[in-house]
Amino acid sequence: MDKALTFLKNTFGFDGFRPPQAEVINTLVNGGDALVLMPTGGGKSLCYQIPALVRPGCGIVISPLIALMKDQVDALLLLGVNASFLNSTLDHQQVFEVEQALRDGNLDLLYISPERLTQERTLALLQEVSISLFAIDEAHCVSQWGHDFRADYLQLSLLHREFPSIPRIALTATADARTREEIISRLDLIDADHYLAGFDRPNIRYTIGLKQNPKPQLLRFLKDAHPRDAGIVYCLSRKKTEETATWLKGEGFNALPYHAGLNAEVRADHQSRFLRDDAVIIVATIAFGMGIDKPDVRFVAHLDLPKTIESYYQETGRAGRDGAPADAWMIYGLQDVSKLRQMLDQSEGSEEHKRIEQHRLNAMLGLCEITSCRRHALLAYFDEASPEQCGNCDTCLYPVDTWDGTEAAQKALSVIFRTGQRFGVNHLIDVLRGSENDKVFQFDHHKLPIHGVGKELDANQWKSVFRQLMARDYIRVDVDSFGALRLEEKCRPLLRGDESIFLRKDVKTRTVAKQTKTMLPEDIDIGLWEALRECRRRLAEAQGVPPYIIFHDSTLQAMAEYMPATLDEFSALSGVGERKLQKYGPEFLEVIQGSSHSLDQATP
Ligand code: ADP
Ligand code: ZN
Repeated sequence: MDKALTFLKNTFGFDGFRPPQAEVINTLVNGGDALVLMPTGGGKSLCYQIPALVRPGCGIVISPLIALMKDQVDALLLLGVNASFLNSTLDHQQVFEVEQALRDGNLDLLYISPERLTQERTLALLQEVSISLFAIDEAHCVSQWGHDFRADYLQLSLLHREFPSIPRIALTATADARTREEIISRLDLIDADHYLAGFDRPNIRYTIGLKQNPKPQLLRFLKDAHPRDAGIVYCLSRKKTEETATWLKGEGFNALPYHAGLNAEVRADHQSRFLRDDAVIIVATIAFGMGIDKPDVRFVAHLDLPKTIESYYQETGRAGRDGAPADAWMIYGLQDVSKLRQMLDQSEGSEEHKRIEQHRLNAMLGLCEITSCRRHALLAYFDEASPEQCGNCDTCLYPVDTWDGTEAAQKALSVIFRTGQRFGVNHLIDVLRGSENDKVFQFDHHKLPIHGVGKELDANQWKSVFRQLMARDYIRVDVDSFGALRLEEKCRPLLRGDESIFLRKDVKTRTVAKQTKTMLPEDIDIGLWEALRECRRRLAEAQGVPPYIIFHDSTLQAMAEYMPATLDEFSALSGVGERKLQKYGPEFLEVIQGSSHSLDQATP
């Protein structure tokens, strides 16, 4: 383990292992197999990179994400690790050179696509050379039930048969037990040690607000918190992604649309600009995400409600993989719920399936409407225990007020019942507020005793009541008749007065937006921060790599915060290993010195 620690410090520039990296590395170094489940950004790569360096021979990394291999390898080369990749993007000559390097024992790590690995030629080559370990990344791709199934992954059980003495490690961020079982059985990992890290992403701040005026709300969030950051904005429809991107461009942001309807070239271009340029915002449908390994995505914004908590967690999880502070920001409204219910209704699938999906949607809505800690609720949904308060979500930072909504809830339930469970929320609110419009007269609803009993709340407040009743499963939108609200069995005690209910007061959006300040530490000199980013951008461009491969945001922040004056001080920053110290240290030190001079001059 001493050797492992030396690599961690000297090569990667980190001070200590994160759980459970040390244990995983120990297992592999000693020749054992491991199954590792860690959240996105948890630090899975080091779990195989370090043992591959410690053990003799080359580490073989199998990954389906061909588009990422070059960047992964570039990043390793910059650290001084001899890495290479083999996939269909290489021509014959390049393949030959990589194979030769492998034969000559000049590689520490080799990334291979599954279809390349399972070719006779590759397997024969691997039999000839010394191999330190096999790492199977994105191991959930063996699951035939998952979204990312890869037929080639099924063949990976051959590794165990053909290379019985070489340790194997399978890694994934997919949590559920069924996928885990499939990985174990299909990859023959029954005897492997299992490592399950918690799924919390402490650096992500969750904020969920009410959708009022989406565009100004988003603009405010971006201007206040992320004026020059890379991020993803998710929308439900293709049309909306294009509209939103165009509008953001007009507002001065570098925004690009992404959805499955764009042709492949445009998509590839937008994706690569997102990865390589500084501060690009991708406005996308859920088609965007898989295989996006950009570590410095500083925010994920949802303009529409995701269908399930699982999708919400996966999509927001793309923020802040580098561990630096990031935002998961969402606005939603009742219209989102109706739209999703309609889509669900029109989808093919059994009644059983629709019912399950409906429950999952309700859970999502429940998360939006809770008055307690969002993170605690999220983790509880994934059966993970956590403190009652996380201190880094909107409800923890700015506790919501609640009010006794028992009477209002009773009125809301009654009006649904009295009008025959056939009407949508707007009409129900009209009846409660005593409206005398055509529709009210048409159905004789002005004659009902419930007509006009709800004047004490305005329409928005009533919407909030209905939403919260829906989130807590007292009522639901009827899937068969367009947006009509129906009562659930659960509402009886509340209607009878045997139960009381506390509701959250809607937070005005203005306050929600104001809460999200830029995430840089307060005493950082913004001028210096920008100068450091410019220096990084210049170096990245000169080398044809994305900026984060030079240094991550967190390392840049540390530079701005501690302002090292010597190479020795510079080497103490997290993320600065020996190679990068020599290669980039002097240039960044110059930038820091330049800025401290100007500070000195400013304060005589
Ligand atoms: P994953 O593959 O699990 O999504 P990565 O391996 O890409 O995550 O690591 C995520 C980030 O955490 C990277 O920026 C990596 O450099 C950083 N990291 C990993 N392990 C450590 C550690 N022990 N100390 C500090 N940073 C780490
Ligand atoms: Zn919290």
